[in-house]
Amino acid sequence: MIRVNQHYSKLQNSYLFLDIGRRKKAFEDAHPEKTIINLGVGDVTEPLPKACRDALHAAADEMGDRATFRGYGPEQGYPFLREAIAHHDFHSRDADVGPDEIFISDGAKCDSANLQELFAVNTRVAIPDPVYPVYLDTNVMAGRSGGFAEGRYKDIVYLDSTPENGYIPHLPEEPVDLIYLCFPNNPTGAVATTAQLQSWVDYARENCAIILFDAAYEAYIRNPELPHSIYEIEGAREVAIELRSFSKNAGFTGTRCAFTVIPRDLQAWDRDGDKQSVHAMWGRRQSTKFNGVSYPIQRAAAAVYTPEGQAEIRTLTDFYIENARIIRESMRELGFPCTGGDNSPFLWFRTGGDSWAFFDRLLEHAGVVCIPGTGFGTCGEGHIRIGAFNSRENIELAMERTIKALK
Ligand code: PLP
Repeated sequence: MIRVNQHYSKLQNSYLFLDIGRRKKAFEDAHPEKTIINLGVGDVTEPLPKACRDALHAAADEMGDRATFRGYGPEQGYPFLREAIAHHDFHSRDADVGPDEIFISDGAKCDSANLQELFAVNTRVAIPDPVYPVYLDTNVMAGRSGGFAEGRYKDIVYLDSTPENGYIPHLPEEPVDLIYLCFPNNPTGAVATTAQLQSWVDYARENCAIILFDAAYEAYIRNPELPHSIYEIEGAREVAIELRSFSKNAGFTGTRCAFTVIPRDLQAWDRDGDKQSVHAMWGRRQSTKFNGVSYPIQRAAAAVYTPEGQAEIRTLTDFYIENARIIRESMRELGFPCTGGDNSPFLWFRTGGDSWAFFDRLLEHAGVVCIPGTGFGTCGEGHIRIGAFNSRENIELAMERTIKALK
């Protein structure tokens, strides 16, 4: 008899977006004359940069000519893209990452989920709260948690991100093996300093642990003091994997291209206590299970690193950062403490009380949709997430309405 993976039954159905949709619909039915502005969105709104579109067209034409047509590409990605990434994203910041340590993929989401299959089922996992839910659910699916009770899965070590620690979690008190960190953070927008990341790298080295560092929002960092990559931190090559994406810097959410860095120095241990190369294991995994990202998409991603592409992605991310500034200042007028928005497209407001009650209040009185913090974990209670991914017109109108309604 074929049996299912029983761990799936532990998963909590995410009612968050269904619930948001239901409340939105009820408001629309009750107030057909009012337009709703959705500031809960995590997807980008601005179109692909011209440099990327031009590269995509040119590559599509190459594919239409027998002389330049390409079939299967290298599973790890084309060298032209890996070399551009190594140079622009890492060498330019004195981070030691070679092109052969970069694996091109079709998303940071699937990479973050797939990577954990390299590690033993009894790996002790530490996950921030609040969190991008993929890290948690994929470990539950893999059988690394117990059941769900009082808002948390048993056997997962939660790293609380709270106002008290500035939303940068403290080191765990018990030993853990695999640590998820995401900076700039989704949902809080907080960014760890060099000293804070150094303490995590030191912890990982002392405890033979690995850090999965998600830097999908790196392009939003504006403070020159903040590290962009974990490989700017001493010792990180021995203990960290980094995830990056073209989704939020160049609008590739629908185009799909990302990459994962696994340094050759990174080791994990087998049951005999022998060291194994995680780089070699991931290379083996990808060449067995993945046939690479399409050539035109990799050409479009490489165009991000041309002078025109760099100027365009700066304009793109500046646009969202300016949206974030407008949101932050308007909410400040209302007296809500905030993190994020300065080096991140997400803003995390401390509203106090029940986060669903605040959601309802904002919808009812301003026609504005946000995300209640509890949707990201128990530490999200008393908070809401607002995203800067929207048109300027919508952001200004939403803030005008919010100030009028809540002042
Ligand atoms: N990592 C974080 C923290 C995210 O918020 C998201 C998307 O919202 C992703 C990864 C997904 O990136 P990609 O589009 O490359 O799959």
